[in-house]
Parts: sequence; structure tokens; C-alpha cells
Amino acid sequence: MVDANDVLIINDNDVVVVDTNGAPAITREVLAELKKLTNKPVRYVINTHWHDDHIRGNDVYREAFPGVEFIAHAAMRDYMPGQGEINRRNFLEGAPRFLEDLKRAVANGKSLTGSDITPEERASHQSDIRLVELVLSEGSKAPAILPTISITERLTLHRGKRIIDIRYLGSGHTAGDLVIHLPNEGILITGDLVVWPVPLVGNPQSRIGDWASTIEKLLALRPTIIVPGHGPVMRDDSYLILLAELFTSVKKQAAAAAARGETLEEARKSINLEEFRKRFSGDSKIRKLLFQAYVAGPAVEAAYREVTGKH
Ligand SMILES: [Zn+2]
Repeated sequence: MVDANDVLIINDNDVVVVDTNGAPAITREVLAELKKLTNKPVRYVINTHWHDDHIRGNDVYREAFPGVEFIAHAAMRDYMPGQGEINRRNFLEGAPRFLEDLKRAVANGKSLTGSDITPEERASHQSDIRLVELVLSEGSKAPAILPTISITERLTLHRGKRIIDIRYLGSGHTAGDLVIHLPNEGILITGDLVVWPVPLVGNPQSRIGDWASTIEKLLALRPTIIVPGHGPVMRDDSYLILLAELFTSVKKQAAAAAARGETLEEARKSINLEEFRKRFSGDSKIRKLLFQAYVAGPAVEAAYREVTGKH
């Protein structure tokens, strides 16, 4: 269970917000913090993509700042009413059971995999419990707000002296990932194109074949400060280079498996991600679990589907 990073860009006369959390209750906390920093109004909310953990707090800004504009990729207007609604409903239906499993695991001193719980797993499960409870507390009441300004390539905001360059540089995590570049400050806000400690790969939403080249375009902007969709702020590009290497390798290995005529199940066995598992997970049990759930499983499947056209 994850919650997105929000970025609050305070300009000469207004504020631009990037992404808005997985629950309105969290965004209300963020807004309270913003009000301690400035009384300037929020003029634009940019959603890097349409996943619920980045958009559920949109309505908090609409209520607090009438007339605020919502900026997102044009594909969000197609996605949200259809597949997005289905995914949202499925999540809300499955969440109470997930919550029970987590609470039982913590109470019994067992991890979700059934082994004795480590301190890191306990902290992770407790964080999950808090987030799931927050999402469920307001359930489906948080309306999905569609962009009032949609873009497909690029939109540049000039707010006083500041330049806020909103770019679509290619797909990866979804088909509509926006990045926000502040060229004067050397800051790049990546949405879920970059997620720490492991990339969030969704099948069928993610595009493994494009992801590495999209990351290369992020690197070409030469950012000095990188704000990922989840995880701590990065001050060098080493993690992005690791991501590009991973996606390049998965794509290459999936193409080779397909050329050998392998089925998906055979490809799962022949594609070797051990080196990457070590580099992303180290000795951490929870990161190994995350790598399996969010990378090895869905990335291999998505890459295989892309090269063969088969599921
Ligand atoms: Zn996402």
C-alpha cells in the first residue's frame, strides 16, 4: 500500500501542486501544512497520472480554492470513467480483506508470507494498515476529478520568474505519465516513472518496451534534484540508471525468450533477474517481496505480451 509524494511549488503570487495522495484526509493534512508556509492560493493541481494514490485528494483543493484548474494527460479523460472506475471499485471491494490479513499478520507476529515477522515487515504492515483505513474511511466518496486542462505533449507555466515545464516524454508506468521540470532549479518531478525502492510495474498498464528510453529522456534533462512518485528525494541519477538497465534487460530477455518460441510460463523461468533482485532488495525480506510482486511478476508478463502480442 503506497501513498504518493506531493510537491508544493510556491510561486510569486500563487501555488502549483503536483499530485494529491491516496485519501482526502491526507491531503487535508498537506493543505494545513501548506497554509503554515503561505497564504497564496493554489491555482493549478497537476496529476502526473491517473492512479488513485495520486488523485484522491483533488477535491480538497477544489473545495478550498474555487476555480483551481486540474492539469493531466489527455488519456486520463478516457481512462478514469472506464477502466479507472472498475479498478477503483475492485480496490475498495478487496481492501477490507487485505486489512484483515495485515492486522492478523501483525497480531500473530507473522509476515504476509507466513514467516516470523521482521521489524521492517512489521513497520511496513502497520503503515499499510494506516493507509488502507484512511482510504476506506471515505471510501468511494472521493470523486474522481478529471483534468480541466489536458495535454498530450507539453505545457509550460510561467508563474512570475518561475518556469514550470510539464512534459510527456514517453510511456512507462502508464500510457500517460507526465513529468514536471523546473529548469532554473534543476528539479525534476517524475511521477511513477521513478518509484523507490522498486519500480511499480502494472500489467497491462505499464509499457516495459518504452520505459528505459523514457528514463533516458529524463536523464538527458540533467536534473540535480529528482522527486520520485514514491520514496525519498534523490540528489543523483544513479537510481534512474539502475531502472533503465532493469527495463532494458527485461525487454531484451523477453524478446529472446519469444524468439526461442517459449510460452509465458517458460519465459518466467528463463528470464533471469537475480542480479537486479540483489541490487534492488539487498538482504531485505520486504523488498524481495516487493520486487517479486511489483517487478518480476508483472514486468516479465508485460514484456512478454508486448513482444508476442499474447497474454
Ligand atoms: Zn501509479
